[in-house]
Amino acid sequence: TSVKAMAKVELRELGNTGLKLSCVGFGASPLGNVFGPVSDEEAVGSVREAFRRGINFFDTSPYYGGTLSEKVLGKTLKALGVPRSEYIVATKCGRYAEGFDFSADRVTKSIDESLERLQLDYVDILQCHDIEFGNLDQIVNETIPTLQKLKEAGKIHFIGITGLPLGVFTYVLDRVPPGTVDVVLSYCHYSINDSALEDLLPYLKSKGVGVISASPLAMGLLTERGPPEWHPASPELKSTCQAAALYCKERGKNISKLAMQYSLSNKDISSVLVGMNSVKQVEENVAAAVELSTVGKDEQTISEVEAILKPVKNQTWPSGIQQS
Ligand code: NAD
Repeated sequence: TSVKAMAKVELRELGNTGLKLSCVGFGASPLGNVFGPVSDEEAVGSVREAFRRGINFFDTSPYYGGTLSEKVLGKTLKALGVPRSEYIVATKCGRYAEGFDFSADRVTKSIDESLERLQLDYVDILQCHDIEFGNLDQIVNETIPTLQKLKEAGKIHFIGITGLPLGVFTYVLDRVPPGTVDVVLSYCHYSINDSALEDLLPYLKSKGVGVISASPLAMGLLTERGPPEWHPASPELKSTCQAAALYCKERGKNISKLAMQYSLSNKDISSVLVGMNSVKQVEENVAAAVELSTVGKDEQTISEVEAILKPVKNQTWPSGIQQS
């Protein structure tokens, strides 16, 4: 195997945690069949290839595939026999197939259930999942203090929060003691079509919070194949992204590669979490990262794509419950 073929993705520090995450993170929601069925062989093959190429960060949730993603990830990690210290696992609490519950009781039970499904003694990061669907004052006063107890008990090492609307992060971070929330996971806000997270990065840095940005492909919008049926984007956003994908294809370019390079370019983002369920996708996304750090990104085509996407720039969709 040539040196180039085995090139690995770079590691980046995650806020003040001391963790070094691969800049490409493995989003395990597809292992819960969220984007279509995945066989055990494909799951093991993708995770094995990820490790070979330096990916050490895996993100899941009890919500993905109704606990299936956690189970498949756990089984896969066990099958591969990689030492526990060599990978970083993040899972979540508060969002389940049955609905939302951020209460102390539920999240305390939830971590034990997750650890059992993952076949692990601890997770590196436990994140409150999609907090805009909860009561943010409960998150501040009940859920996060409960996660601190789990941290003291050694079941989790770091605490995170996730959500779509960016305002939920400032709401919580302004109200918890400094250093309580270690990590923020934002999604669909640092892609070619939507880069709203950029404005929040200085604030997050000032709080010492590590930043993970998920869904660089905008959950399928920035792929040749297009988004799944359940995708919440407006018809206009979907069709504009498909037009951009076609534009790239006609020029022998791949919109997903450009999208990965766009998201990976900002080093204030520790890891770009991309959902993967095949060896080919791992190879492509790693290749995009390696090319970015060796020869740089395709600025020309990216700006052409940005021009096509301009009418829908930063267009998002509603998420969560109204809070006063
Ligand atoms: P994504 O933008 O990463 O897109 C994933 C889709 O793109 C899948 O269909 C995948 O098969 C496909 N894909 C991956 N690489 C490709 C390539 N090279 N070419 C073509 N298609 C490719 O969206 P996502 O999976 O929703 O997000 C990534 C991860 O981030 C999730 O798995 C999850 O772990 C995390 N996430 C968390 C939250 C949250 O906490 N609220 C929300 C969204 C995502």
